[in-house]
Amino acid sequence: MFPEKVYYEPDALSYDLGKMLREKFGGSPWIPIESHNKIDELRTQPNSAFRDLKRLLIVGVRKTHRYVPNTKTSDFLVPYTSSGCSASCLYCYLVCNYNKCAYLRLFVNREEMLDKLEKTARKSERELTFEIGSNSDLVLENTITHNLEWTIERFASQEKGFLTFPTKFNMVGPLLPLEHRGRVVFRMSVNPQEIIRTIELGTSPLEQRVEALNQMAEAGYRVGMLIAPILLVENWKPQYLELLDFLEAKLSDRVKRSVGIEVIFMTYSYVHRAINSEAFPKGSDLYDPERMTGRGRGKYCYRPDVRNEAEAFLRREIEKRFGAKSILYIV
Ligand code: SF4
Repeated sequence: MFPEKVYYEPDALSYDLGKMLREKFGGSPWIPIESHNKIDELRTQPNSAFRDLKRLLIVGVRKTHRYVPNTKTSDFLVPYTSSGCSASCLYCYLVCNYNKCAYLRLFVNREEMLDKLEKTARKSERELTFEIGSNSDLVLENTITHNLEWTIERFASQEKGFLTFPTKFNMVGPLLPLEHRGRVVFRMSVNPQEIIRTIELGTSPLEQRVEALNQMAEAGYRVGMLIAPILLVENWKPQYLELLDFLEAKLSDRVKRSVGIEVIFMTYSYVHRAINSEAFPKGSDLYDPERMTGRGRGKYCYRPDVRNEAEAFLRREIEKRFGAKSILYIV
């Protein structure tokens, strides 16, 4: 059952979304908390409880709305209607921020957040792009809150700015008929199916992700694709070749004509290792002492020589299938 329990800030119940969630999940126990940032009985759980913590839902009011400048596919990373996620990718970057409390938190003050976004877009002399999905997976969140549907239609009704978000989920049906007016860039994240099955736990299979990307392009959305994170597992070359062949065969011409591809190598950390070894003792160990090196503050990345070789290989194979202009960046 999801959610097994709901921890909530009582203030959240004075918002429409808070009331809707209370009704929707009335069958689960609701436990009042002072702040979604400091739930001591959850923070003090052992690492082995990570999977159980992912079955909880936290409902609160977002108080910090600080935009972080970005130079990749957007101008700003914007904290939006959720953080954390109920899936369990073993490398999830959110674990670096939230440690084992990377569970799904929903923020009910969406009007306040979208008002600020629209105002910032209107005031700017140039068209700004806002990344609203860097803290969670909004397509997954949308199955609970319908926030993405509400956001896309309301944002697109104004004349300035673009929204963008990545996802590893395929539940795009409710987004297809929306009046997005070309103001949304939908980005699908992909990886070889074997990596999805064993490491991106709880996310959508590759075939369904590709289908969703085709559908979104067909519905007129601007689209992008992330091949991310690149995991240099034992047989990574044949796995990524198979992925690229699959994408070449299954992506629609419409996607292939316009898609920009982001390629991101995995960063791992001491915290991931500690949590994964206790929460998923039979799971794959992503730390590879032969291929990885320290990167300060308890983080690991692939050694420069290993990474450079892999980058050259991937660049060549992607360009062969999708053209040199398809790659936006490789990091
Ligand atoms: S889907 Fe995204 S946010 Fe959710 S666990 Fe995986 S990487 Fe983290």
